[in-house]
Amino acid sequence: MRQFNVLGLPVHIQDSYSAWLAQRLQNKQGAHVVTLNAEMTMQARQNFDLASVVKQADLVVPDGSGIVLYLRSQGEDINRCPGIELAEQIVAIAAEKRWSIYLLGGAPNVVDTVVDSWRQKWATITIAGMHHGYFDADLEQQICEQLQTLQPDLLLVGLGVPRQELWIQKYRHLCPNSVWIGVGGSFDIWSGKKTRAPKWFANNNLEWLYRLYQEPWRWRRMLSLPHFVWCVTKESLLQKAQK
Ligand code: UDP
Repeated sequence: MRQFNVLGLPVHIQDSYSAWLAQRLQNKQGAHVVTLNAEMTMQARQNFDLASVVKQADLVVPDGSGIVLYLRSQGEDINRCPGIELAEQIVAIAAEKRWSIYLLGGAPNVVDTVVDSWRQKWATITIAGMHHGYFDADLEQQICEQLQTLQPDLLLVGLGVPRQELWIQKYRHLCPNSVWIGVGGSFDIWSGKKTRAPKWFANNNLEWLYRLYQEPWRWRRMLSLPHFVWCVTKESLLQKAQK
């Protein structure tokens, strides 16, 4: 596994992330997977707890095109690994191997819809449990007790960034041999509540534009994208000047 640095955060490059994760699952080694994009990188510059979690994660995949374009500008020949696609691949492998899965996050009923559609798609899928992502302290306690009892092999946590990363860090010890992945808004896509950008947008690094069209209230968060470009350009110029 090769490791690169984007504004102080690690990014891991693998030939096959899903094969690496399947191996971890098989060996019951456990892992925390972070899917890094420009927005999260900029958040981590202000939120030191988030930065610390990303630095400690076992696998940080280049989810966003901003990360990939920056690493390519540094001469690295790498491709994107969208977190939602990686999660789908690992769910397919888990279904075949009968590894158990727990889904946490999304609005009430969203994960139920996801589980229904997965059960239709994969007859052998093993769902250990599920819970929506809007819980108070009492419900959270119940979820933690459930996780400790169930010990699912794979945990998909979709509570949004940075909450899901901090949540995984806080509770990972409950299931130390499980693979935990922060999946952001993937449950909304898998349930059909939202749609992914058409291929054209992704191929032209414009997925953010489609997201803005679908969720216009995100405009303030998206200001972090030009800020990311500014920061990586500044860093590249500094590195060149030092050579
Ligand atoms: N969410 C949740 N609990 C919360 C806040 C958010 O389960 O308290 C879910 C929300 O329903 C959505 C996901 O977290 O499914 C956040 O999606 P978003 O696309 O904003 O993810 P991000 O860009 O933060 O990865």
